[in-house]
Amino acid sequence: SSAFTHPMRHKYYEPGGKIPLGLKRKGLRIVVTGGAGFVGSHLVDRLISRGDSVIVVDNFFTGRKENVMHHFKNPRFEMIRHDVVEPLLLEVDQIYHLACPASPVHYKHNPVKTIKTNVVGTLNMLGLAKRVGARFLLTSTSEVYGDPLQHPQVETYWGNVNPIGVRSCYDEGKRTAETLAMDYHRGAGVEVRIARIFNTYGPRMCIDDGRVVSNFVAQALRKEPMTVYGDGKQTRSFQYVSDLVEGLMRLMEGEHVGPFNLGNPGEFTMLELAQVVQETIDPNAKIEFRPNTEDDPHKRKPDITKAKDLLGWEPKISLRKGLPLMVSDFQQRIFGDHKEGSS
Ligand code: NAD
Ligand code: UDP
Ligand code: UDP
Repeated sequence: SSAFTHPMRHKYYEPGGKIPLGLKRKGLRIVVTGGAGFVGSHLVDRLISRGDSVIVVDNFFTGRKENVMHHFKNPRFEMIRHDVVEPLLLEVDQIYHLACPASPVHYKHNPVKTIKTNVVGTLNMLGLAKRVGARFLLTSTSEVYGDPLQHPQVETYWGNVNPIGVRSCYDEGKRTAETLAMDYHRGAGVEVRIARIFNTYGPRMCIDDGRVVSNFVAQALRKEPMTVYGDGKQTRSFQYVSDLVEGLMRLMEGEHVGPFNLGNPGEFTMLELAQVVQETIDPNAKIEFRPNTEDDPHKRKPDITKAKDLLGWEPKISLRKGLPLMVSDFQQRIFGDHKEGSS
């Protein structure tokens, strides 16, 4: 596939191949779209500490400069304010494509923009990968399984997705992004990698993004009741962000296209999650029931056999270990020097 050529192709480095004398560089040149966001900024930290040069491409819809500010003085770090829906010319070895709002509250805010980001944005980044011969990793989602009729979910399951619902801009958008990635792989020889990420939490999540872990943690810290939607018996499986970043990097560096489920198989009902938050933050934290949102998947749990076998990866941090690491970050951001909402 690396024999694919293009007149405008400008190759600095052949991953795993011969490096022309005089062009030998220490690290790779890597684009992280959505790199100012929650997951992206943790990935950037790891890539920079490994010695790579990183270009963050972000339109700051949900991302924040604060997440990557500690790299601003590093000459191996660059940041571009750019919307991936517009074409972009760069010369790089690898593209981690994360740009897309992930919280239901954010992606439903402007659904047409969300689907444009997933479809046109992914198309542009694949076009870029094709032109420069870069390897491309798509961060897809467990939502491609919809409200799953198979449990736990295996990569071979095709899913149960509503094409015309309020979540479709996200889940159908990601399904199309996967299709685009596979078609660029088969048709143009682009080296692609596909990760299907399950619910992930950790420091730097937007405090008010409406996701369940950030909501419960912020509510318990502010002495507000935790809002459980529906009967609270629906399940999710929560992965700590460092486990995810390790999985994404192994996938990028490995030989397998995927798709791979990347998630923690530890499954909790929302009521159980509220209990863990009580144990971690405040045993007296109260629970308040609210109506659930439309098309909410009833259960979700990854089968990670494939990632274990082919990537040698599995998560290491349980919910009870990971939650306190996030709580200290939220505590600082809610009650710390900066006024809440000032960032
Ligand atoms: P996030 O909202 O914190 O990060 C997304 C980043 O993309 C933000 O910095 C945002 O400003 C940027 N962005 C959004 N639209 C853009 C556009 N059009 N052009 C340029 N930048 C744009 O979310 P996250 O949790 O870090 O998620 C990162 C990726 O992982 C997303 O693609 C998401 O779909 C995927 N994912 C996340 C989870 C999870 O639980 N966190 C689960 C499944 C999949
Ligand atoms: N593209 C880009 N950067 C590049 C190369 C392509 O943003 O370095 C965009 C390009 O504008 C196009 C998309 O990626 O909209 C797909 O590119 P491709 O070359 O595959 O298709 P074509 O331009 O022939 O439609
Ligand atoms: N949820 C909840 N209380 C909240 C926010 C969400 O009970 O304050 C529920 C929501 O209905 C869903 C689950 O938690 O069943 C996970 O929601 P989230 O938005 O975090 O992510 P999703 O997995 O739905 O994308």
